[in-house]
Amino acid sequence: MCSQQKIDFSDSNVVKDVTLRVFRWNQAEGGPGRLQDYKVPVVPGMTVLDALIWVKENLDHTVSWRAACRMGVCGSCGMFINGKPLLGCQTQILKLHVDVIEVRPLPNYPVIKDLVPDFTRMFDAHTAIKPYIIRKGTPPEQIEGEFHQTEAQLVDYLQFSYCLKCGLCMSACPTVATLPEFPGPQPLGQATRYVRDTRDEGFEERRAVIDHEFGIFRCHFAGACSEACPKGIDPAFAIQLMKGEIVRRSVFGKPAPPSAAIMPLKQEKATKQEGIPAAPAQTEKG
Ligand code: SF4
Repeated sequence: MCSQQKIDFSDSNVVKDVTLRVFRWNQAEGGPGRLQDYKVPVVPGMTVLDALIWVKENLDHTVSWRAACRMGVCGSCGMFINGKPLLGCQTQILKLHVDVIEVRPLPNYPVIKDLVPDFTRMFDAHTAIKPYIIRKGTPPEQIEGEFHQTEAQLVDYLQFSYCLKCGLCMSACPTVATLPEFPGPQPLGQATRYVRDTRDEGFEERRAVIDHEFGIFRCHFAGACSEACPKGIDPAFAIQLMKGEIVRRSVFGKPAPPSAAIMPLKQEKATKQEGIPAAPAQTEKG
């Protein structure tokens, strides 16, 4: 649950009311769940997460969701908003241009309560690919000095290291939806992140986890994961890079060089919005 929002709900600031249609389910009631409507006043800049907080504070304290940072960093508030996997804190209500907002838990996960998904499948698969640098031989604590990387070597895995573990990609993936053994785009993307890091030597350990009958080659490149990612990461591309790495090492016995085809992070054309105050003056020189 987030800390208190400082939103001005005075009449002059309210633009309109919307109906927030929230999926409700809990273990005690069981059944398929139900949708419950709440009338919410909307002010400029208000997000779907802000609306849920307003409902909890003013109408119904029993509504449950998961959130923490409110600024697209923690990856906790993934929800299915009007049929799309989105972060609640990044989804501005007025930009949806609708009067009814339906909020459901992310698909492809069991539900714990209301909008809270159970991420056990994703985190189990994420843990299994060993999401850390693996070194052979000398134990890490005995290694002296630094590992140097060129800019090209850094760019080769950098975008994949921005993953929030928000799970939106998993909820968009048709293979995750139909194949319980499939690791999914988040863990597979992270396997790529570490295997393409020149400091890492854990390819075989990760391959043993992801290259099996229901593993990485079950990805048919639907690309929905990359569409869903709120950080502009391209997990679908990461998976294709990893497939190539597996084939290349199997045939030639050596890793692929940095990819000339690596795509930079998707850049939205940035335009400053009206009413955003200027950044404060720099307080430190350097
Ligand atoms: S790849 Fe993107 S959508 Fe998937 S868990 Fe990471 S940040 Fe979320």
